[in-house]
Amino acid sequence: MHAVINPATEEIVAKVAATSAEEADRAIARAHAAFDSWRAVAPGDRANLLRRFSDVVREHVEELALLEVKNCGHTIGNARWEANNVANVLNYYAGAPERLFGQQIPVPGGVDITFKEPIGVVGVIVPWNFPMPIAAWGFAPALAAGCTVVLKPAELTPLTAIRLGELALAAGIPEDVFIVLPGKGSVVGQRFVDNPLVRKVVFTGSTSVGAAVMAGCAAQIKPVTLELGGKSANIIFADADIEKAAATAPYGVFDNAGQDCCARSRILVQRSVLDRFMGLLEAAVKGVVVGDPALEQTEMGPLISRAQHDTVSSYVPSDAPIAFQGSCPSGPGYWFAPTVLAPVAPDARAFREEIFGPVVVVTAFEDEADAISLANDSEFGLSGSIWTRDVGRALRVARGVESGNLSVNSHSSVRYWTPFGGFKRSGLGRELGPDALDAFTETKNVFLSTED
Ligand code: NAP
Ligand code: MG
Repeated sequence: MHAVINPATEEIVAKVAATSAEEADRAIARAHAAFDSWRAVAPGDRANLLRRFSDVVREHVEELALLEVKNCGHTIGNARWEANNVANVLNYYAGAPERLFGQQIPVPGGVDITFKEPIGVVGVIVPWNFPMPIAAWGFAPALAAGCTVVLKPAELTPLTAIRLGELALAAGIPEDVFIVLPGKGSVVGQRFVDNPLVRKVVFTGSTSVGAAVMAGCAAQIKPVTLELGGKSANIIFADADIEKAAATAPYGVFDNAGQDCCARSRILVQRSVLDRFMGLLEAAVKGVVVGDPALEQTEMGPLISRAQHDTVSSYVPSDAPIAFQGSCPSGPGYWFAPTVLAPVAPDARAFREEIFGPVVVVTAFEDEADAISLANDSEFGLSGSIWTRDVGRALRVARGVESGNLSVNSHSSVRYWTPFGGFKRSGLGRELGPDALDAFTETKNVFLSTED
C-alpha cells in the first residue's frame, strides 16, 4: 500500500495498492491477449469508441480536476485544463483510425503497398508533474493505432490515471485494452522494459531513468519514446515588448511550481535592457499568487513532495545570488516561493541543471550570436521562447537554438495538434501532432506481382 499525500496539506488522501511484478506480467499477458481483437475493430468503430471515451472524460472534467488538485497541488484552473486536454487529445486521435494511410509505390512487375501495423502492447510510464496530459499523449494515439496499453502512473500521483482507466471501461473500451497499473517504477516500469510482450515503451521523466529504460529496451530492440528533462531559455532582445516579456516570464517558468519539463528556467536578457527588465520582472514575480490550489485566483501551488522541496532548496543555499523572491504560505505543505537568481554565470549549477521548482536564473547576453550560444550551452534542448519584434531575427534564432519546441513572443509549447519532443538529452522521438501514430506502428511493405 502506498499512501498518497496532498502536497498542500501533507494529509493522506488515499491508499493505493502497489502492483507486484507478477501482477504486472499477468496484466501485460491480458493486454497481449486483447491485442488481436482490438486491432481488428473496424476503424470507424474504434474512432467512435475513442470519441465516446473523450465525451466521458469531458463529462468528468470537474471530478478529475478536483482529484488532481488534491493529489498534486495543481491549481484548479490548471487541473481543469489538464482534464480537458485528455478529452481533446482523445478526440483528436479519434480521427486517426480512419486515416491510418499507407502508400502505393510505383514498382515494376506489380503493385506495392504499405500498411501501418499496430506494434502490439505499449507500456506508458508517466511522471508526477502532469499525470493526466502525459498519460493521454501516450495512450490516445496508441489506442487509435490499434495497440493495447498498459500504463504506470507515478507512485506519487496515481489517482487520476486510475479514474481514467475506469472511465475508459464506462465508455465501452473493451476490457484489457487499456490497463492502469499503479506501483513502483523499479517494479512495474521495469516489467514494461523487460517483458518481451510489451513491444514499445513511452517514458516521460528524468534523463537518468530514461537512459536506463533505453538501455534496457535495447536488449530486445524494443523501440522507445523518451520525453526527459529541460533547461529551456527565454531569450529577450532589446527590441522586444519588454513590458510583456517581463509580465509573462514568471508564468513561463513558475507554472505548475516550475515542475514542468518546458519551464523557461534560464532567462537570457540583452544587456542594454537588463536593468529595465529586472525592475519589471520583480513586480511581476511579486504578483504571482501562491497559495491554496483549490482557490480560483491561485496561480501557483506547492511542490509535489518533501523530497522535491529538499532538491529545489539545494539550488538556493544561503549564499545564493537571490535577486528577489515572491511569497508563499507557511505551515504544512511543500511551499516554495518563486525565486529569481541573478546574475548567474553559465558554469553555475543553477544555470546547468534542471531544478524542477520555482527557481529561475537570469543571465545577460550581448548580441544575437551570444544569445544563441548561451541558449545552446546546455545538455538539454526541449523548449524555449524568443522575444523580439524583428521577424527575421525571430526566425534566425529559432533555427539556431537546438530545441524541439520554440515559441516567439509567447510561452506556449505543448499543443496537441503539433509535434512535441526534445533535442539532445531532452529526449528521443516526438509525441502529439499528426504523426504521433508512427511511434505506435510498424511499416509493412507488401508487393503483389501482376505478372501472368
Ligand atoms: P523518474 O524517477 O524518472 O520517474 C518518472 C517515472 O518513471 C515514474 O513513473 C517512475 O516511477 C518511473 N520509474 C522510476 N524508475 C524506473 C525504472 N527503473 N524503470 C521504469 N520506470 C521507472 O522521475 P522523478 O524521480 O519523479 O523526478 C526526478 C526528476 O526528473 C525531476 O526532479 C525532474 O528533474 C525530472 N522530471 C522530468 C519530467 C519531464 O516531464 N520531463 C517529469 C518528471 C520528472 P515511480 O513513481 O515509482 O518513481
Ligand atoms: Mg525517481
